[in-house]
Amino acid sequence: MPPTDPWCNALLRDVGLDERWPLEPTRIQIVHIDRPASIVGDILICADPISGVYFRSQNRGQQILVGSVLAEDERETVDPDHLPAYVDDDFARLKLHALQHRLPGLSYAAAVHGYSGLYTINRSDVHPVVGPTPVGGLYVAKGCSGHGFKLAPSIGSLIAQAITGESGSFDTDVDPAFLALDRQPILLSTKTALA
Ligand SMILES: Cc1cc2nc3c(=O)[nH]c(=O)nc-3n(C[C@H](O)[C@H](O)[C@H](O)COP(=O)(O)OP(=O)(O)OC[C@H]3O[C@@H](n4cnc5c(N)ncnc54)[C@H](O)[C@@H]3O)c2cc1C
Repeated sequence: MPPTDPWCNALLRDVGLDERWPLEPTRIQIVHIDRPASIVGDILICADPISGVYFRSQNRGQQILVGSVLAEDERETVDPDHLPAYVDDDFARLKLHALQHRLPGLSYAAAVHGYSGLYTINRSDVHPVVGPTPVGGLYVAKGCSGHGFKLAPSIGSLIAQAITGESGSFDTDVDPAFLALDRQPILLSTKTALA
C-alpha cells in the first residue's frame, strides 16, 4: 500500500476493509518559541506527564519546541484534506504555561509560533495494524498512533517478511499475529499518548 496513512480510510473503504479498525486522522498541535537568553545550558528532551507537556530544543538550540503528552489533546479527528495548519491560541497558552513550571526562567514575552500535523490513531488499542490483507497483494501498515517514527524499523521488517516469506538475523522477532489485521484488540489498562 502506498503511504496513505491519514487518508487510509478512503482506500480501505474501496476494498471493503474499513470496518475492522477505527483509524482516525487526528490533529496534533506543536508550539515553538525562540529560546530566551534567560534559559542557559542544554535542554534535554523531556516528557513530563505531570504538567502534560514534552519539550526539546530545535534549530541548533535556538528554539524550544513544546507538545502535549495528554490523550485529551489527541481527540480532534479531522478530514486530512482540510487540516487547520495553525496552532490554536488556547493550546499555545496552556502548554507554555505548563512549560513555565519546568523552565521557570522562561519569559512570557516571547513570540509564539506553531503548527498542526496529522497522525492516524487506532482508537481501539493505539497499536498499528500491520501485514497482509484478504486482498491479494495488498499489505497495510497503519494506525501508528503517533509512534510511526520509532516503530518504522520493525514495521518495515514485518512487511518485508510478509511479502518475501523470508527473514534474516536483522529482522524483528515480533510475532506477525501481534499486529495483524485480523487480530483481537490488545488489552490495555490505559490508553495514553505515550503508549
Ligand atoms: C506532530 C507529530 C508528532 C509526532 N511525534 C512522533 C513521536 O514522538 N514519535 C514517533 O515515533 N512518531 C511521531 N510522529 C509520527 C512520525 O512523524 C511519522 O510516523 C513519520 O514521520 C512518518 O515517516 P514517513 O517517512 O513515512 O513520512 P513523512 O515523515 O511524512 O515524510 C514524507 C515526505 O515526503 C514528502 N512528500 C510528500 N509528497 C511528496 C511528493 N508528491 N513529492 C515529493 N515529496 C513528497 C513530504 O514533504 C515529506 O518530507 C509524529 C507525527 C506528528 C505529525
